Amino acid sequence: MTIERLTGRPDLHPAADAQPQRDIWLSVRRGLQCRCPACGEGAIFDGYLRIADRCPACGEELHHHRADDLPPYIVITIVGHIIITLVLAVEMFADYSTTTQMILWPLLTLAVALVMMRPVKGAVVGYQWALHMHGFGGPQEDEAALRPRAGNTDKKERERP
Ligand SMILES: [Zn+2]
Repeated sequence: MTIERLTGRPDLHPAADAQPQRDIWLSVRRGLQCRCPACGEGAIFDGYLRIADRCPACGEELHHHRADDLPPYIVITIVGHIIITLVLAVEMFADYSTTTQMILWPLLTLAVALVMMRPVKGAVVGYQWALHMHGFGGPQEDEAALRPRAGNTDKKERERP
């Protein structure tokens, strides 16, 4: 079903309909395991948080991702809920000294955030890959992204070929 039929507005990204369906949850799960969303074999990272340009196992291009700030936002939300719950639980059921808590909570927050960043970023990239976002759809999508959008009056957009 096209976006135009659903919304009554022109489909701004017609190339997306022409792409094969990808399993979103499988791609996200592979990303959580820091594996290539396409094959599940190759490592998605070639540094702590740097996404590899290509999968070393299947050659899938991974440089199209635009994870940007989403992984830190997700990590902050999850870590905040975990740490605040623990702080409240300790306040209610334990008697840790202030000094102990001033050392414990920042270190625990940092450790949990550092451990979670890679799988969360992998999952975001897997999600983008599954939805053919940001060039993950191949050259057709790259061309569609360069076309001027309907109703866009931005001068820069109109001047594009
Ligand atoms: Zn791969």
